[in-house]
Amino acid sequence: MKQIMLQAPLSGYLMPLERVPDPVFAQKMVGDGVALDPASPSLLAPCDGQVVQLHPAHHALTLATTDGLELLMHIGLDTVNLKGAGFEPVVKTGDQVKLGDPLIHFDVDYVATHAKSLLTMIVVTNGERVAGIKSHSGSVTAGQESILEVTLNGEQADRTDKDFEPVVSDAILIPNHDGLHARPAAVLSNVARKYQADIYLQKGSEQANAKSVVALMNLNVQHNDKVKLIARGADAHEAIRTLSPMVEQGLGEAGATPVSAPASVSVAEINAPAPRPRSDDPNLLLGVTASPGLAVGNIFQIHHATIKVTETAANPQQEEESLRQAIEAAKIELEALQARLHVEADPAKAAIFAAHQELLEDPDLLDMTRSAIAKGKSAAFAWQTAVNTQADSLARLKNELIAARANDLRDVGRRVLQHLTGAEVEAIDAPANAILVAEDLTPSDTANLDRSKVLGFCTTLGGATSHVAILARSLDIPAVAGIDPRALDLENGTPVILDGRQGTLRLNPSADEVTRIRDQQQQQAAKRQTDLAHAAEPAITSDSHQLEIVANIGGLADAEQITNLGGEGVGLLRSEFLFLERTSAPSEDEQAETYAAIARALGANQPLVIRTLDVGGDKPLPYLPIPHEENPFLGERGIRVGLDRPEILRTQLRAILRASSAGKIMVMFPMISTLGEWRAAKAMLEEEREKLGVPAIPVGIMVEVPAAAVLAEQFAREADFFSIGTNDLTQYTLAMDRGHAKLAPQVDGLNPAVLHLIAQTVNGAHRHGKWVGVCGGIASDPQAVPFLIGLGVDELSLSLPAIPGVKAQIRALSLSECQSLAKQALTVDTAAEVRALAPDA
Ligand code: PEP
Ligand code: MG
Repeated sequence: MKQIMLQAPLSGYLMPLERVPDPVFAQKMVGDGVALDPASPSLLAPCDGQVVQLHPAHHALTLATTDGLELLMHIGLDTVNLKGAGFEPVVKTGDQVKLGDPLIHFDVDYVATHAKSLLTMIVVTNGERVAGIKSHSGSVTAGQESILEVTLNGEQADRTDKDFEPVVSDAILIPNHDGLHARPAAVLSNVARKYQADIYLQKGSEQANAKSVVALMNLNVQHNDKVKLIARGADAHEAIRTLSPMVEQGLGEAGATPVSAPASVSVAEINAPAPRPRSDDPNLLLGVTASPGLAVGNIFQIHHATIKVTETAANPQQEEESLRQAIEAAKIELEALQARLHVEADPAKAAIFAAHQELLEDPDLLDMTRSAIAKGKSAAFAWQTAVNTQADSLARLKNELIAARANDLRDVGRRVLQHLTGAEVEAIDAPANAILVAEDLTPSDTANLDRSKVLGFCTTLGGATSHVAILARSLDIPAVAGIDPRALDLENGTPVILDGRQGTLRLNPSADEVTRIRDQQQQQAAKRQTDLAHAAEPAITSDSHQLEIVANIGGLADAEQITNLGGEGVGLLRSEFLFLERTSAPSEDEQAETYAAIARALGANQPLVIRTLDVGGDKPLPYLPIPHEENPFLGERGIRVGLDRPEILRTQLRAILRASSAGKIMVMFPMISTLGEWRAAKAMLEEEREKLGVPAIPVGIMVEVPAAAVLAEQFAREADFFSIGTNDLTQYTLAMDRGHAKLAPQVDGLNPAVLHLIAQTVNGAHRHGKWVGVCGGIASDPQAVPFLIGLGVDELSLSLPAIPGVKAQIRALSLSECQSLAKQALTVDTAAEVRALAPDA
């Protein structure tokens, strides 16, 4: 077997050809080989041979070996345009050269600043002579380490060409409404990293490493963009088979609707940040709403000091090791932060830090850093430069959602930099009544914020979808993003009014204005305090009719708050929380432990209604791909998924049954439309129960489809209870997508058509002595509460914060008054007319 070892023609950092930002090289149109990010100024001969071609622009040269191998060395990208400037060849066509002989000197600074890139490609141009090529990776020293092992034809090779043929997917139209922003990009890179093959996502003539979230985001893939996946390697076919349908289905993103026809309009403009208006009133600064609410407080400016780093370092190996340790330390911190947030039932916030962890494994970011370290830069300088370069490039993208992720990258970058330099972690030490003003606040800034002192945020960057907005909403404080930059010039201590709903910051408020808002807030706070103080008392109307008031929850931490808020159990546990944000389904044991822990947190007498997994075409899971559907809301969704993939439903049912001795557990099936579906699901439960030999538990259905409401009486003969999911029932009754931005004002559960279906459900259930709850959003809406009571609903399952207020409201109502209101509501024409009937809450 004839093998040729090619030595490094330059010092620097090796990277696979596929990462070269030029499709001609990346797609190996010129040939197979390797790319090198150079750190030395002279191209040396990688082997003995003859110069068979020297390009007139002196940036590229071809060498032929005595075995007939032809090797092109191409310095930089688009360097042909320099027309020879910066290059000085020391050989000419026809010269014989020995390994290590200099071939071309070049001016590194000039070429780096005048061409697209300094990346140098070393490729075999006559692939037909070659049986296999193995490229090396990492940093190399010119003339001292090998970069490629080439096995010539005619011999048995370790790998055949066929193994390395690129496997290309069909064209895929991106279904995600916001394109491939951080979350879908993270899902794709995560799964792609499981394969050995090099995998790329191609959009037009550009490619991105599919294992790099940063590279994927930088590709700026928008909704309806046409992309292809390209894989090369032993498991390339398998990778494409798995990844293509995932991309087609929106990579687990709720609301991503697979598209079947190319769209003629680009959504780039739609995603582009809207021009920010400037107010004529000098005392009013405008921004966009990020989190609602009003706050009267004093300005407190937040500035991040730049962390100073030394540019160069003597020992690249040592710098690599420092980088590794700093990244490891940052990962451990992020894990601890996530664990804490999960316990605090803050999954949205925890997910942000999970995404930060992903960034720490980003191959492009790491390659860029290591390449600079190999050139003699310190780890801190190399990391800071790589993070800033990538973040700046994300921030320039037109897609606001992706641009906002630049802030995350800077945040996680800073975390690592603090470990590398020993710089102090800056904690925000705000005075009381502070309204924070900053260019941007990072998730890390807000993770440890003192909620008792900070009344609101306001940032010049970011938008309604930024992480700052999510964080502000999770802290339940007002926030305005994209505020007029004049906010940054305000003195600390300046009194202001922050209006989260209007997206404004008012300066120099009059004393009257401040007093009015403070009074309003005090009254609301006092009412909340009184309601909370009485929360443990039952919700009994003035004419002695008692409603059961339970909670909608998404996990254990929610359950732990129920009793303090006056909740009497759980009317809806959305079990999806256990299945989301992961790459495989939770095990039976894990589920059983979680359900039992929630039941124990509630105590033996409080009901826990567990809804089985409610996902489907509209909210697919990465490990549960659902084939493309034209109408996912009308397709495989809710119980239909469970019946189609019984292994997942059976596992969950076993887990619920095993946990059932820990409390008053009940099970409920989502989106039941037919008696056939109900009976199949119930039979599954019964089979698993018999196998486990545990006592029966109550089993009910969610009434979310008009068919179930209309046939409530038939269902009531067999089911133990109903819980009306008015969010879906409204969407299916009115044939209006519940997430449709334009239709949103009309998707109102108080539409009389929906109220008729609620009445029908209650009547059918009561005829057979079964109870009915409402767990959709209107149960927490004070305007809807009197109508639901009047229609005969027995239980209301509310969002946690609504519990004390709704209980207080019910104590001030009478059943007879509610009944007459409900009767009237069934006769009017529109939701608005129903709302007009509602007494002031
Ligand atoms: C509903 O549809 O009203 C409901 C409670 O279920 P979800 O909102 O989880 O679909
Ligand atoms: Mg629903």
